[in-house]
Amino acid sequence: MEIKVEHLVKKYKGCTAINDISLHITSPSIYGLIGKNGAGKTTLLKMIAGLARPTSGTVRCDATKGIGTLIESPGIFGHLSARNNLLVKMKMMGDFDESHADELLNIVGLNNVGRKRVSSFSLGMKQRLGVAFALVGDPDILLLDEPINGLDPEGVVLIRDLLIKLRDKNKIIIVSSHMLEELSKVSDQYGILDNGVLVKEFKEGELEYGDEDSFIAHVDNPNNASVILNELGINYSFVGQGILIRESEERAGFAISKLFENGVQVREFKRYGNALERILLEKGGKKQ
Ligand code: ATP
Repeated sequence: MEIKVEHLVKKYKGCTAINDISLHITSPSIYGLIGKNGAGKTTLLKMIAGLARPTSGTVRCDATKGIGTLIESPGIFGHLSARNNLLVKMKMMGDFDESHADELLNIVGLNNVGRKRVSSFSLGMKQRLGVAFALVGDPDILLLDEPINGLDPEGVVLIRDLLIKLRDKNKIIIVSSHMLEELSKVSDQYGILDNGVLVKEFKEGELEYGDEDSFIAHVDNPNNASVILNELGINYSFVGQGILIRESEERAGFAISKLFENGVQVREFKRYGNALERILLEKGGKKQ
């Protein structure tokens, strides 16, 4: 199984949502697509799924059993039960074995509410049903846009375990999120989207997990802060709107106290998030 995207561009009036993206994913893989709101994740997934037409460039998906998607509203009927919704989709795809609907409900943890009307479902329950929908026909490629949105912690674990099981069945799963922490628990490779551009791709092994001490500070006067930090010999850099201090907690705390002493107001000082968060912020920072 394979997904090959070459020089993909999607322009809407006055905006380039996807700007010359090329990527190549082979099975098995969980590809984590990361980006801020409006970065272009949904647009990219829609084009890979064939739900939106590229302005230019090509998408080739090699999948014998098709592509399953959870992108925006998955076409679920509120007046039908979850089970009947699945049966409708299954029949459209030529699967008349009703036991498959029960299996899918089981997989996403909706077996107890399968016969309830979907209109009475919570957001998280609808999300679980959306994942079950994507799984109809046992597709080789799954494109899941923010699948853990609205899920309770139990639901998050369930989806995470499910994705890993699916990868083990040699599938390709692209999963988008801005919840970096969650993606980093399942993905084996990552693509970072920023402003329609795939700014970085890397594999799990290439992620540097923060064994180094690093802290982020937001100050009212970065120029003055910079002079003081230079004088103290602090290892720091500017990322996005913040100052990234790469020092032990003790040294970073000392630096902050010196900033205060010298009249720089520190609005925020916290441990700098995980590696993914860092990359996103650093990439975002460079473009500003
Ligand atoms: P989010 O995390 O908020 O869902 P996203 O990364 O999925 O964001 P997209 O929904 O792909 O981002 O949007 C990318 C850009 O394309 C945005 O600037 C958006 O306004 C624009 N866009 C998306 N769909 C359309 C459309 N149908 N018409 C015009 N502009 C659009």
